[in-house]
Amino acid sequence: MRATIVGGGVIGVSWAGLMAAYGIDVVISDPAPGIEDVVHAGLAELIPSLADLGLPTAALADRITFEPDLARAVAGTDVIQENGPERLDLKHQIWSTIEAHAPAHALFLTSTSGIPATDIATALQSPERLVVGHPFNPPHLIPLVEVVPGRQTAPEAVAAAVDFYRSLGKKPIVLAKEVPGFVANRLQAAIFRECVHLVAEGVVTEQQLDEVVTSSLGQRWAVSGPFLSFHLGGGPGGLPHFLEHLGPGLQKRWGQLGTPDLDAATNALLSEQAANFGGTIAELAEARDKAQIALM
Ligand code: NAD
Repeated sequence: MRATIVGGGVIGVSWAGLMAAYGIDVVISDPAPGIEDVVHAGLAELIPSLADLGLPTAALADRITFEPDLARAVAGTDVIQENGPERLDLKHQIWSTIEAHAPAHALFLTSTSGIPATDIATALQSPERLVVGHPFNPPHLIPLVEVVPGRQTAPEAVAAAVDFYRSLGKKPIVLAKEVPGFVANRLQAAIFRECVHLVAEGVVTEQQLDEVVTSSLGQRWAVSGPFLSFHLGGGPGGLPHFLEHLGPGLQKRWGQLGTPDLDAATNALLSEQAANFGGTIAELAEARDKAQIALM
């Protein structure tokens, strides 16, 4: 099998490493000068994590080649995962070139985190082929891929996308509707708004807030999501009892949540406290990846 990774930035490298670890021949197409060095540096960082996951990494880098000319990069490919810049005009340009040169059977997948497939597909003669396959960073580790069809996406394209992501050990979830930010990032935005409020109000520091999450909600939600957790929280009566008993209090709290602005003063406060995490970003990321793999 052959896959073309369009855009070899943060997300493209991660997808490329994962696909190559699953034995797929990967072609990376990215016009940036020096992209080969950037990708190889990125691969060197993620290969230990792939090995920790039990994936074979010995010949991984040999399976990844580069072809800056997009038309040539997609000729003869089976899957295209596009990870170009988050700009509609560029996505249009990229996808019309892909459509003109890719084989008729190739899967059309875009990693976009916010542009609906419906909008990208206006550049296509066959809009039914395009599906959003939105990973949660970093795609080589985090299982979720939100599969989001556009208004014209064919059910067969959705099914093929799901099969493909499952074959990479991912957890694809198909959304029934296009919604800004999809699901995981909407949840993240909702929770982060309250995190910012609590830190900006001086209730807790960033480090304390993170500990509250990692020692409570994070652990709980790693095994049972918000709905199952509250279903179990209702005892024998399940979620109906929970909603009757604790629902009014929960609804009252919705009215007490903060609505902070990310203005200059708030950003300065958040940035100042982030320095207290200590270590370099690379050290913190390495520790995070090791803990993530241990959890998985
Ligand atoms: P990035 O800036 O790290 O990488 C984008 C890459 O695209 C760059 O290497 C750039 O040289 C390349 N590029 C520019 N023009 C191109 C062209 N015409 N053809 C091919 N490549 C081109 O960005 P990223 O964070 O990897 O994001 C890529 C996509 O993935 C975006 O659509 C983004 O919304 C989505 N996404 C990002 C994250 C994240 O956390 N970073 C998570 C999920 C999805």
